[in-house]
Parts: sequence; structure tokens; C-alpha cells
Amino acid sequence: MRDRAERLAGMLPGWLGWLRAPFYWAQLSAVIAVLQFPLAAYEGYFREHKYGLATQTFGPWLGDQVKLFLVNLIMFSILLPLLYAVLRRSRQWWLWGSLVAVLFQTFGALIAPVYIFPLFNTFTKLEDKSIRGPILSLARANGIEVDDVYVMDASRQTTRVSANVSGMMGTTRITLNDNLLKRCSLPEIEAVMGHEMGHYVLHHNYKGIVFFGLLIALGFGFLRVSFDGAVRRYGSTWGVNGIGDLAGLPALMLLLSVYFFVMTPVLNSGTRIEEAEADLFGLNASRQPDGAAEIALKLGEYRKLNPGPLEEMIFFDHPSGRSRIEMAMRFKAENPGENHLSSP
Ligand SMILES: [Zn+2]
Repeated sequence: MRDRAERLAGMLPGWLGWLRAPFYWAQLSAVIAVLQFPLAAYEGYFREHKYGLATQTFGPWLGDQVKLFLVNLIMFSILLPLLYAVLRRSRQWWLWGSLVAVLFQTFGALIAPVYIFPLFNTFTKLEDKSIRGPILSLARANGIEVDDVYVMDASRQTTRVSANVSGMMGTTRITLNDNLLKRCSLPEIEAVMGHEMGHYVLHHNYKGIVFFGLLIALGFGFLRVSFDGAVRRYGSTWGVNGIGDLAGLPALMLLLSVYFFVMTPVLNSGTRIEEAEADLFGLNASRQPDGAAEIALKLGEYRKLNPGPLEEMIFFDHPSGRSRIEMAMRFKAENPGENHLSSP
């Protein structure tokens, strides 16, 4: 694949030499996509249907997968030439490499809400005043300067109830999905939006980048030891001359996935701790503990409600339903006399 990419790039004018990496990635990612297809179909299509969570037939689902593949191809065509320029030039490639990875992650978070998400879903402004009013009021009360709340037609793919805060700086927006709108009462929606605003007010986007940056720097440090060691031993058999050689990318990816696999509990716990913060913020902001508890039950459709403590620490990137209901009921008990609206 590397030799083919080199040949192709060799036929172009010199200033297009950076296309070597995209040419290589196009081949490698196609092979990976084909090899992983059975698992992706089982996980993303067949199992989702079995649990009654998917709304797409096979054709549109496959269409989304193709779009995802193309987005990935374009993003990596930008990332890889930059990354390899750094890997080839510096002896401290692990440090500069992780810096490129962090900058790219930030760039992705910045452009995704504007250029990538709309490829898969339609975003409209929430018009219903009886819902938009309380949400914007909640936003103003918590120092969030947004004029709009967006609705995403998630029901195109799934029956899952969800919402999110996406983007950074100028592209930040609060979005709720249409399943939430259709299936939930106002106290429940307020509880969810209070949680999402918590992510925004507590700067979880930026903290997430720092957290990811530390993890990725550690990961590149691991790559430096393990990849260099592997190349010293097997490099001549593999035909890989060092870190700057594109043909070493599959080995780098494999080693990095081993690293992230081992780091699963760390990654999940980092996320879960922020989610618990957003839960507490949401309860204080919305003052809808009953709504929060009802939502935790609804999320039980796709998240096990009552895992063991170790199971929750390793596998859960959000607090379990049980923890969330307990948190909401504790809040309610500590705030007696508040006239909570109860959910139907
Ligand atoms: Zn959250």
C-alpha cells in the first residue's frame, strides 16, 4: 500500500507530495472498513433492531456508514500529512505528535456541529414557545448567552432520548433530540437541559481537551517505547524503517488501540465524573428531581440501570440509573417544601 501510494504521489507535481499519506490512508481505511463490517453491522444495525432502538432500514443505515467513511477519509487526509511531517522531523516526535492530535481534536470539535452533524441529521430551531421559553429562561438564569435551542431529528436513526451541548467558542449550541421532545414531560426536559447546561457552564469541552491531551501524550510515550522496540526487532521483516514510514501506521494504530483498551476505566471514569457534575448542576438549576429520576428510568432502555460498583467504574461513561435516581432523590429530600412538578 505504501509503495502504491508513493508511486501515485510520484506521478504528481512535487508540491502535491503530501498526498502520499491520504493515498495510503484511502487503501488502509478501505481494508479496515471491510474487515470490520460484520462487527459494525451487528453492533450498529442488527443488535439495535433487536432491542427496538433503531428506526432505519438497512439501506439508509448503510448510507450513513458510507458518509461516515468519507468524512473519516477527508479528516484523516488533513491530519495524517501534518502528523507525519512532525513524526519525520523531530526526535521528540511523541511530544509533537500528541500536540498535533490535540489540535486536531479541537479543530474537529469546532467544525463538527457546523459541517459534519448536518450530513446525518437535520437541525431546526425549537419553535414551540411553551418549551423554548422555560429552556431559555433556564439558560439566562445560569449565565448562558444563547438565543436559540436546536432540535435534531434523531428519530431518523433511533428511538433513544438524548440531548447534547456541542461545539466550542462560536459554534457552541444546545441541542435536544426530537425523541426527547415527543416522549418527555416539561419537568423531564428541564432536568435534561439543566444537565446539558451544566456541561457548558462547567467548561467540560475545554477540560475534556486537557484530559484527552494528557492521555494522548501518555499514549504517544507508550508508542515511542513499544513502536521503536517493535521496529528494532521486526522492522526489516515488516519492511518498516521507522516512525516516519507510512507502512508503520497499522502497527501504530494497533498499539494505540491496545493502550486505549487498557485505559478504558480511566477514560470512562473521567467522563462519568463530569457527567455526575452536570447532574448536580442540572438538579440545582432546574430543581426538577422527579423529572431527572424519570429520565434516568427512560435511559434504562439503553443503559443497564443497576450495575455493580466495579462494573460501573469500568464500563459506564455516565452514572448508572440507580446512582442518578439516588442523587435526584437525595436532592429532593434535602430541599423539602419545594413544590416540585411531578411527571405524569
Ligand atoms: Zn451529559
